[in-house]
Amino acid sequence: MLVEWIIPLLIGWTAGWLVNYFSDVLPLTRRFSKPVCLQCGSQFSLKEYLLFQRCPNGHARSFRVWLVQIALMALSVYAYSHPTALDYWFKAVLMIYLGVVFVIDMEHRLILHPTSVTGSLIALVLGTVSHGLTPTLLGGLGGLVIMLVFYFFGVLFARIRARRMRAQGMEVDDEEALGQGDVILVTILGFLVGWPLIWFLILVSTLLGGIVSFFLVIGLLITRRYNANALMVFIPYGPYFILGAALIVYFPNFLKALLPN
Ligand SMILES: [Zn+2]
Repeated sequence: MLVEWIIPLLIGWTAGWLVNYFSDVLPLTRRFSKPVCLQCGSQFSLKEYLLFQRCPNGHARSFRVWLVQIALMALSVYAYSHPTALDYWFKAVLMIYLGVVFVIDMEHRLILHPTSVTGSLIALVLGTVSHGLTPTLLGGLGGLVIMLVFYFFGVLFARIRARRMRAQGMEVDDEEALGQGDVILVTILGFLVGWPLIWFLILVSTLLGGIVSFFLVIGLLITRRYNANALMVFIPYGPYFILGAALIVYFPNFLKALLPN
């Protein structure tokens, strides 16, 4: 039994390592460059980096590194021990893409185009394998259209907000409620989960985002740091869509419990 777990643990560890590496270098250089310390910019040797050692100036790697390693090992073991229609190896590749988008959006509020291109390919293949080409394409189209509607509402809202801020003599930032990266991301996730599950994905992600925002507002109110403008800056949407997609792909039993048919 224990031997059986070695494969998913190793795969999960490798996936976590790749997610950490991509998240460290892609936002900085947009290519597969040599990893540098995120605090002082000094270069890691391969050994230092692989073994999560401190940089030459003594800075420890961020806490995120460990969170990613543990989360992906757990997800890998779960996927391995709970087979679904989608093969384990597909799920292993997918968790790298989902992990990279999640971490980079959390840390930089950024969804990179090369990641999106790679993600589209993965999602198209996995979508077609698990539910056929037509639902895959329809899922992507559905995601795109729904998100474009939200996006233009967001643009409208930002304009109204900017006008109000100007009227109050405040400096206007160019904060977007919903970025173009989010629209592209949900299109990709639409390929992945297909039609009609894309509706469910958007619903679940929005609920999840709403719940977290609620507690964030409560927390800010308690610590007396609440102001309506701060909230928009705080919350990236991408991670919630990623969580929604992970729920659908990796935990379909949970999904069945929610949906009667
Ligand atoms: Zn350093």
